[in-house]
Amino acid sequence: QEKINHFRNLHNIHVTGEDIPEPVETFEELATRFQLNARLVENITKIGYQQPTPIQMQAIPLVLQGRNILASAPTGSGKTAAFLIPIIQSLKCFNNFGYRAVVVSPTRELAKQTFFETDRLTLGTGLRTHLLEDVPKFVKRAKKNRSSRFDILVTTPNRLVFLLSKKPAVVSLESVEWLVIDESDKLFEADKEGGFRDQLAVIYKACSSPKVRRLLFSATFAIEVEEWCKQHLDNLAEVSIGARNA
Ligand code: ADP
Ligand code: MG
Repeated sequence: QEKINHFRNLHNIHVTGEDIPEPVETFEELATRFQLNARLVENITKIGYQQPTPIQMQAIPLVLQGRNILASAPTGSGKTAAFLIPIIQSLKCFNNFGYRAVVVSPTRELAKQTFFETDRLTLGTGLRTHLLEDVPKFVKRAKKNRSSRFDILVTTPNRLVFLLSKKPAVVSLESVEWLVIDESDKLFEADKEGGFRDQLAVIYKACSSPKVRRLLFSATFAIEVEEWCKQHLDNLAEVSIGARNA
């Protein structure tokens, strides 16, 4: 335990919550400890990631434990792979259940970047990712009942809520096992009129499977986000890198 604490201090990893798993130091260790999918390991190597970043060291084992998480780490510190690697590992391969993971990004540009990262990390795994861009096309396709061709959905909250609010809804999130709110600090911060909170409530409700886990990632620690998590999420684990409000 002392060794683990020393390792966390060394990498500026702060954790709170019950039953926090040990961080991993290397991708090799991660691969053996969690029997990572060989293609996923190959993709990580091909991309050129040599060592997990501090947020990845702690968040990947936490997400693989299958729990609700609030994570904060500076911009550019690899948060995308911190949630994508364990989600890809957990989803394994394509199936016909419909979306099993949803990543909500504040802007189209960030959604696009997340999509590219998903694309290269899922290469050869059979998992399929959909970047929600063309809403009218999506609606048309959904009417032909062809929306279960993907496992992962990457979207902005506006587009997703638009689809969920149609009567009848043109997207189903019933099979979602992982709901990721990326840049949650920004989404809550810009939320003077409560618009995002309302959108989040719609999305949260639509992810109706008892299996769903929620992961909130942000660059800064935001008290509003923590309050929302404490109110809505059981057995929450919090992980932050560096000073809490850096
Ligand atoms: P954040 O979401 O924390 O701002 P990103 O996930 O966008 O950061 O990652 C920033 C950059 O770091 C990206 O170019 C990404 O490919 C790269 N990156 C992620 N993980 C690692 C790693 N373990 N080693 C080296 N580079 C990494
Ligand atoms: Mg990011």
